[in-house]
Amino acid sequence: MSQQDALYSRARPKTLSQLIGQEHIANALAQAISKDKLSHAYLLVGTRGTGKTSTARLLAKAMNCETVREAQKSGRLLDKKEIPCNNCAACKNFSSSPDNNEFDAASNRSVDDMNRLLSSAYFAPLVSHKKTYIIDEVHMLSTEAINSILKVIEEPPPHVAFLLATTEINKVPMTIRSRCQVLNFRLIPTDTAWPYLRKIAYRLGTNLHEDAAKKIARLAAGSMRDALTYLDQCNSGVNEEISLTDVDNMLGLVSDEKLDKVISAVRARDRKETAAAITSAFSSGLAANTIAESLITRLRDMEFARLEKDTEIFSELDNFIDALRKAISEMYGSGIPDIILEMTLLKLAEPLQTFAPIQMPTQAVQTSAPVANLDAGKKFFYDVANKFGSQEDGLSGIVDKAIVVNFSGNTITVGFKSPTLASMFEKNYLAKFEQALGEEAGHPIKISVMFDKNLPAPILERVDEPERSVLEGAMNFFGASDAKKV
Ligand SMILES: [Zn+2]
Repeated sequence: MSQQDALYSRARPKTLSQLIGQEHIANALAQAISKDKLSHAYLLVGTRGTGKTSTARLLAKAMNCETVREAQKSGRLLDKKEIPCNNCAACKNFSSSPDNNEFDAASNRSVDDMNRLLSSAYFAPLVSHKKTYIIDEVHMLSTEAINSILKVIEEPPPHVAFLLATTEINKVPMTIRSRCQVLNFRLIPTDTAWPYLRKIAYRLGTNLHEDAAKKIARLAAGSMRDALTYLDQCNSGVNEEISLTDVDNMLGLVSDEKLDKVISAVRARDRKETAAAITSAFSSGLAANTIAESLITRLRDMEFARLEKDTEIFSELDNFIDALRKAISEMYGSGIPDIILEMTLLKLAEPLQTFAPIQMPTQAVQTSAPVANLDAGKKFFYDVANKFGSQEDGLSGIVDKAIVVNFSGNTITVGFKSPTLASMFEKNYLAKFEQALGEEAGHPIKISVMFDKNLPAPILERVDEPERSVLEGAMNFFGASDAKKV
């Protein structure tokens, strides 16, 4: 193979032990080969670039490998590293063997071609032990061509093996599926792909930085072929080292740094900063939908990193992703994709709309409402909260952090120390609460939501005296901001 061959071809696995990310398949096949229990027809199913064709070739080679056949006869257990051996005459001549037939249904679908290929199936192999038929994208064959294959695999001659591959199992007729042993190829996990990419780069004489390898692996989204193609692209432009910046530049990506600036500006609800960050992201010359997709990938990574720890942020990021996905679908066919992305981000960065001007709770209590009224407001609010608490998932977590700040006229002011919780309450529960409060009070009651990070720790609100004074004292003593930490 020449140096110009694509890296993907050069890096193809040579034995079952090198099948990256598909250990379940490698193990099952190694066992079947060791025990001489291979099927005469396999259907290899999976997304592009997950190793189907590579595996089909390894299988075809192994079926004819002299070392493998000797081990089968003597009952010696084979290691995945020696399947196939790559040293015997059959292995060495495999690529030019007249008995191995490869056919890509995507580029060559006619029945005549198929029949020509299959016509030789009933004759004994010319030089090998088995005649092998590797057919890629088998779902794209015409019905007649499929029927020709069926005829052979229904009563297969003993010297024939079919290795059929497809990316779309649903389009493969049941008659074929039921006669094949199905091998399901998984998407290759990022954590498996990136160390492998570094190893390949090392063999090419290049130091691929860890963060650069991870970025390539994430971008390839489970396809090793894509990952190696990206690595190839990056490797052609630099010498000896590939950094994260090299990857961004060579593949025309927005840097994580620029994406993070957009994300943090939006989360801080700073519209001016958001506008500046998005302008800077556009300056990389990328299309708006590519930037939006990169933002989604970045947000998803953040979500996975925090999934178990912080449900509050999880939900906020979820809203962010939803808005971007909607924006991407609006961009198709639109002449103003940049503006759609800009407007979406600016809207996300909008300050929470119905927030009252920030008031300190003590002022509010002194100036506009007697204390008794505040207690009445609290009673209304928490009675309704308790009523809903058992029906609504996630509500009690939010209500635990709500602080009834004021009750004046017919409006209860509810404060939160976090803008996210405030907007979640407003979005998901405000209308329900107002309705229930109205029923409780016998006249309409409105809720005004506010955010102020200086509000007192919320847990005190639902603790009655004298525990409250004790808790307050303890919190002051420890300087704690959250009663749960006391
Ligand atoms: Zn061999």
